[in-house]
Amino acid sequence: MSAALGLFRLQLIDRQVDRAQTQLKEIQKSLDDNSELVELTGKIEKVQSEIDSVNQAVRTAGADTQSQQEKISQAESSLYSGQVHNPKELQDLQNDVASLKKRLDTLEERELASMTELDAAEKELGMLRASLEELKIKRESSMSVLLGSRSLLNRELEKLTEERRATLDPISMEHRNMYEQLRRSKRGVAVVEITDGSCSGCGTTLTAAMQQNARSLSQLVACPTCNRILYGA
Ligand SMILES: [Zn+2]
Repeated sequence: MSAALGLFRLQLIDRQVDRAQTQLKEIQKSLDDNSELVELTGKIEKVQSEIDSVNQAVRTAGADTQSQQEKISQAESSLYSGQVHNPKELQDLQNDVASLKKRLDTLEERELASMTELDAAEKELGMLRASLEELKIKRESSMSVLLGSRSLLNRELEKLTEERRATLDPISMEHRNMYEQLRRSKRGVAVVEITDGSCSGCGTTLTAAMQQNARSLSQLVACPTCNRILYGA
């Protein structure tokens, strides 16, 4: 096996490791992200507290209406009691009843408006709760898919770690260091194949001697332009 082949295989494994780790990070991010749930729960709490205050308004309006009706009954019973004879007093009582009734209309309108508002808020709450249930079900099923993918990726990583150890074993310390350094400085690509007599990393045409040396069993040959390790199949 040429010296470059060992590193080329190592790089194939390392790229799979990188990919698996990136996917694992993405999965973890999705697993941790419960922002939709938090947002919806916040909305529900807000509508719930609206409902509480509208409920209070409905009760107050109901009590006001009732007490106004009592006032009207009292005024009417005085009016029709037959005990008031003075026309001026009768007129005053009639005026009182009329103005009390007018006020009652306003109070009843207010009560109705509060009830309508309550109705709308309760409907909204119902819809939000249904959405929350739906979201929880959706999230549960996506979580189980994500957890499944995560355990597959972890198993794959274990396998890759084993493969990496075996591949790394025959590679000298010097070559390992050279490889690691290039991986860091060349965006993960330390070893490149020779294709049609050129470096597949940068396209530089390579001499026949260089190509021959790249197949050598002991030494590594670097591309004269991009400095990556050349691998000739
Ligand atoms: Zn090159």
